[in-house]
Amino acid sequence: SVASEFAHLHGNIRVFCRECPLLPSDHADNIEHVQTEESHIGRDSKDQLKYRFSFDRVFPHRSSQQEVFEEISLLVQSALDGYNVCIFAYGQTGSGKTYTMEGPAQLQDDTMGIIPRAVHQVFNSAVELKDQGWKGRSYTFTASFLEIYDETIRDLLVNKTVKKMEHEIKRPTSNAVHVSNLKYLNVETVEEVLSLIKVAKQNRATAHTKMNDQSSRSHSVFQLKIEGLNKKGNLTSTLTLIDLVGSERIDKSESRDRLKETKAINCSLSNLGGVFIALANKDTFVPYRNSKLTYLLLMFVNISPKNSSFGESLNSLRFASKVN
Ligand code: ADP
Ligand code: MG
Repeated sequence: SVASEFAHLHGNIRVFCRECPLLPSDHADNIEHVQTEESHIGRDSKDQLKYRFSFDRVFPHRSSQQEVFEEISLLVQSALDGYNVCIFAYGQTGSGKTYTMEGPAQLQDDTMGIIPRAVHQVFNSAVELKDQGWKGRSYTFTASFLEIYDETIRDLLVNKTVKKMEHEIKRPTSNAVHVSNLKYLNVETVEEVLSLIKVAKQNRATAHTKMNDQSSRSHSVFQLKIEGLNKKGNLTSTLTLIDLVGSERIDKSESRDRLKETKAINCSLSNLGGVFIALANKDTFVPYRNSKLTYLLLMFVNISPKNSSFGESLNSLRFASKVN
């Protein structure tokens, strides 16, 4: 299967690097020292500091959303075969995480990011699979959307700011990561999911305005639970798509409050990352049927080519190469 091939080639974790383009507002900056190849990224900086990193794939700034999705579409597809798939974007604020996962603020067909593309693919394939007679599967889907800010989980499908609502990420005993008290909605069409995503986006923006914080300082987690039924039995899996909090480090000149907040974020980042990395590595959970492999992980490390982002890019690349 696609998934076992994936595991043979790459282990359960793959890391892709994506470089965002310079924006018009970055005019004064420059990118001339960044070099990318199929699977390497490197740079010779003015101060002679040289680096070179290898990843499973590197997408230079000119890569389109479609090119990126083509590379992960088989992985998304394996969620319909009963494999848990988690894709997340890691990198400093402004490096293109949200662009990669969702797309730009004004979404068009060609600029759609991974989440809408994955939703289209999963639902279209489900229709096709259902039509395959006795072999076919009939699927049901459940969507949830949450964010984690300062150790608190907010349900983005609920239209109010719930402070300190008791949500908890449960370490799974079976296949799924479950969050208590979270709204899990049955969804039947692409349009339904896309409108939920819009709702989540609005709720997220409203919550951040009300609470006077920034969305770049939270993780957002979209999850689709997939259940496929045929005569042979029941497959369950989840497709989890995460836009992580900005990875920027603690700036020593920052105020104490901010410092505390940054620590909390780093802590929840490692918890969340830990949950998924543990899922990919450890065998302490119940494996699905005959397969030992039930969790496939893909991390995007997003970097900005700006000279002023050099330090943060280096931090991100170092972290990401440790993951793989
Ligand atoms: P982050 O979520 O990491 O803070 P964003 O995704 O918001 O960063 O990207 C910052 C800005 O750069 C946004 O205006 C976004 O639309 C733009 N951008 C990022 N990546 C790309 C890309 N590959 N192509 C075009 N614009 C991009
Ligand atoms: Mg963002």
